[in-house]
Amino acid sequence: MNEVREGVWFVEAINKGRYPYANSLYLEGEENLLIDTGAGPVLEELADKTEQVVLSHYHRDHLTFNHLFDGASFSIHRDDAPGVESLEGFYRLSGLNQVEVEAFWKLVRQVDFSPTRIKCYFDEGDYFDLGRLKIKVLHLPGHTPGHCGFLIEKYNLIFASDIDLTGFGPWYGNPSSDLNHFRASIRRLRELKPDLLITGHSMPIAKNIDQKLAAYEAVIDKHDQAIIKALKKEPATLRQLTAKKIIYRQHQGLEVLRFFEEVMIRKHLESLLNGGIITKTEDELYVAL
Ligand SMILES: [Zn+2]
Ligand SMILES: [Zn+2]
Repeated sequence: MNEVREGVWFVEAINKGRYPYANSLYLEGEENLLIDTGAGPVLEELADKTEQVVLSHYHRDHLTFNHLFDGASFSIHRDDAPGVESLEGFYRLSGLNQVEVEAFWKLVRQVDFSPTRIKCYFDEGDYFDLGRLKIKVLHLPGHTPGHCGFLIEKYNLIFASDIDLTGFGPWYGNPSSDLNHFRASIRRLRELKPDLLITGHSMPIAKNIDQKLAAYEAVIDKHDQAIIKALKKEPATLRQLTAKKIIYRQHQGLEVLRFFEEVMIRKHLESLLNGGIITKTEDELYVAL
């Protein structure tokens, strides 16, 4: 754990925060508050002193260690709440009932779905008041419908969770993910001009934040270009484009990764169709115009 500002602790996750682990942020105040529980057993030392756990979104890698915080009250954005409260809601948001789901649980190193009891649902503009620190909820959808960031105004510090500035780029592999919302959320972060950006899967970023956010968004454009290039070579179905592994370089023989790729490619195709850049034939072939 590393105190990045007075009373604000960056809890680095196992394996430098690489999926399926995710960094947490611990905030000290009249009540102590933890954002996300994906960091690892290191969280054990916070278990007894944490009154509130705030979840940035419903993804399993951000709540792996929820069970350590039995005595804390949990909250999440209302749009993502179904994804942690019931398996049915998790399937509805993630689409994972459409694949061999065992491979997914292995991927996140969890046995299966365990529900989280949510005490309070928050929304854009809500505050958590810890006395000396106030934390403002920033609804930053796209990755998931209820994905949120958290602004600590006193330090102009934002925890942006899975707007994570990794080289992989934005991830929108659930049917409920939204490409346009993701773009808008990245732009909103740029407008907010934080002095320190902390994410779920990278080290804290203090320099060239704007540039890095722009480069992160540009990965979406790169995927668009790769798809257009492939379709210019030859028209293809969604399944054929998915097999080209434009987004994931490898699927490791895992149906679940192939599924995420297909969902992401589909979102690009919808956006390119809407933009009049490609068209679709009656036999489901996509053609570049
Ligand atoms: Zn996520
Ligand atoms: Zn994550």
